[in-house]
Amino acid sequence: MAEVFKNFINGKWVESKSGETFTNVNPANSDDVLGEFQKSNEDDVNDAIAAAADAYKSWRLMPAPKRGEILYRVANRLLADKERISQEMTREMGKVIKETRGDTQEAIDMTYYMAGEGRRLYGMTTPSEMESKFNMTIRQPLGVCSFITPWNFPIAIPSWKMMPALICGNTIVIKPATDTPLSVVNLMKACEAEGVPAGVVNMVTGSGGTVGTPMMKHKDVKVVSFTGSTEVGRIVAGACAPNFKHTCLEMGGKNVQMVMDDAKLELAVEGALWGAFGTTGQRCTATSRLVVHEKVYDKFLEMLVEKVAKLKVGNGLDESIDMGPCINQDQLDTVLKYIDIATKDGGRLVAGGKRLTGGDYDKGFFVQPTIFADITQDMTIWKEEIFGPVLAVSKCNSFEQAIEMANDTVYGLSASLYTQNVNNAYTAMRDIETGIFYVNAPTIGAETHLPFGGVKETGNGHREASEAALDVYSEWKSIYVDYSGKLQRPQID
Ligand code: NAD
Repeated sequence: MAEVFKNFINGKWVESKSGETFTNVNPANSDDVLGEFQKSNEDDVNDAIAAAADAYKSWRLMPAPKRGEILYRVANRLLADKERISQEMTREMGKVIKETRGDTQEAIDMTYYMAGEGRRLYGMTTPSEMESKFNMTIRQPLGVCSFITPWNFPIAIPSWKMMPALICGNTIVIKPATDTPLSVVNLMKACEAEGVPAGVVNMVTGSGGTVGTPMMKHKDVKVVSFTGSTEVGRIVAGACAPNFKHTCLEMGGKNVQMVMDDAKLELAVEGALWGAFGTTGQRCTATSRLVVHEKVYDKFLEMLVEKVAKLKVGNGLDESIDMGPCINQDQLDTVLKYIDIATKDGGRLVAGGKRLTGGDYDKGFFVQPTIFADITQDMTIWKEEIFGPVLAVSKCNSFEQAIEMANDTVYGLSASLYTQNVNNAYTAMRDIETGIFYVNAPTIGAETHLPFGGVKETGNGHREASEAALDVYSEWKSIYVDYSGKLQRPQID
């Protein structure tokens, strides 16, 4: 009998009022059931929001350094439990164990970082234009925050939202993706064990429509932070607009790696392999387009295809495996659909292209790492996010054309350039239309103390991680103290 996991509301583990559950199964092995999780409904959401609203009254008054001390202990707890959490994450999400260790580490880094913010949360003081008057700004929390998160970074992304929100003095309700609720259970358990007061963090599991919708629309929710597809992001933006809720959206990508004729090709091949096939291509920052200078195009492709053939696909718990499965049947079907479309559009298949079957492969959603060469800008796989291990390779004839091609997308998350030419590197830093840019490194690999997010249809102007995340979870209050003892009128006296 599979273990039954409950919702976490007001410091207690409780069943959904629906009386229903859903099953969480390992995408690499259908025999491995992680457990039953609550199929929650609107009543559960209302309970969680009421608990968060109540807890907000005292949490916002706790001195930020004290909140920071609690987060510091949560980080220590995550660190102590890192291996178990990472093993469970590989089982529920499928990505290989070295990557889930990285995912957990990202949550640890973010928690330590935001714990430290408890002793900063800087505002500013600035001179007044009047005599004997003092001007300053302070950050203020907003209240209850709703978080809707995806499955590809099951603990890192929740922590990117939770930790800055908590240090600013907000309280939270989170709905994890239905494919990866256990990782957020682990996050809640760390908070519970280390003394985060009841009601400050709450978790409600279940579907986007049933649980996500009331989380966005409830009148007591002041901030909605969503990471997921651009399609669902549009729904979230619409739902939050009528009440002018603060809305932070992190959405899709169609990231490009550019390889110039002066690049170190071995390094660029390694970067492309890691960028395109790490996390089975299921990263918002995954390299899904590769633009290679015509002078090195054939050689680069040959080197890349040789390396791809050596990648081992399988169950990510095995340390020797390079690439795990797709997250679920739908995602596998999507990947196979795009492989079909690319073939029909005239893409030249140079690696992979098939579902992996036979033996243990039949228990999971495995597909070969796939590369299409000679992709042109009118083809579907040039334009649409696939979110799987499919790389589209195109030729350019100059650095300028590479930049033009890189920017030819509605998305704007991440890009990378391999070159030894410092002038081109700086020109690209200026002209590339993305929120994240790498020189001589792959499109993936963000660090927690730099802003994370995208431009164009990837985001709505906010950033996660770093100090920039504090702007999502606090509002500025400007304060003027006049100690002159007389009426002073700015702009008039
Ligand atoms: P998704 O949009 O399908 O789901 C994301 C979350 O939204 C899930 O928790 C889901 O249950 C919920 N949801 C679905 N429909 C909803 C609705 N109608 N109302 C409210 N909530 C709803 O995305 P996914 O498949 O989980 O993740 C993949 C997508 O996420 C990709 O497009 C990827 O690029 C994007 N992503 C972006 C970033 C980033 O930081 N930019 C990071 C990771 C993933």
